[in-house]
Amino acid sequence: MGAERWFYRSEEEWIAIAERLKQTPCPHCKVVGTLIRHGYLYGFDESSPQRKTLRARRIFCSNRNVRRGCGRTFSVWVADKIRRLSLTTRGLCRFLKRAAAGSIAAAIRAADCHLSDRTLQRIWKRFDQGQSKIRTALFGRCPPAPLPAEPSRRPAAAQVLAHLQAAFPNADCPIAAFQHSMRSFFV
Ligand SMILES: [Zn+2]
Repeated sequence: MGAERWFYRSEEEWIAIAERLKQTPCPHCKVVGTLIRHGYLYGFDESSPQRKTLRARRIFCSNRNVRRGCGRTFSVWVADKIRRLSLTTRGLCRFLKRAAAGSIAAAIRAADCHLSDRTLQRIWKRFDQGQSKIRTALFGRCPPAPLPAEPSRRPAAAQVLAHLQAAFPNADCPIAAFQHSMRSFFV
């Protein structure tokens, strides 16, 4: 599923990650003892269109002074944010469910958010192209769910979304849970 990403779901989880930084190998160069906090990444999404929200914490692998790090940075993401997408995982989930059940045009109209039609179409395409990878990742957690009872225009996509729900039945948002547990963005 591409490069491993780091996510946290709560302030407690972030504090635990931050406290372990000194013992954590850098994901790039694998050196231990060089990681330090390096600020924040803010951005807009549908949860707060007027004000930027925290999307990720930046980490720097320090090569300054006597440190032997690689000088690269990476992000520890808030689990309900998605890289290069100004949409939360909840907004994405609502949109994908509508698009799988009915028409994509209707899902775009219902999305009622700041994103353009073209962006939403691109998001659908990203999901559509990633379906088999998502399915494979979900198979590692549980067998596929039975096909949803409601008729759907896109049964394969509806099946993946039902599988996702079955894999994280107690999650507040199954896409955020997927990202956190698979260490990978959903789309
Ligand atoms: Zn490094």
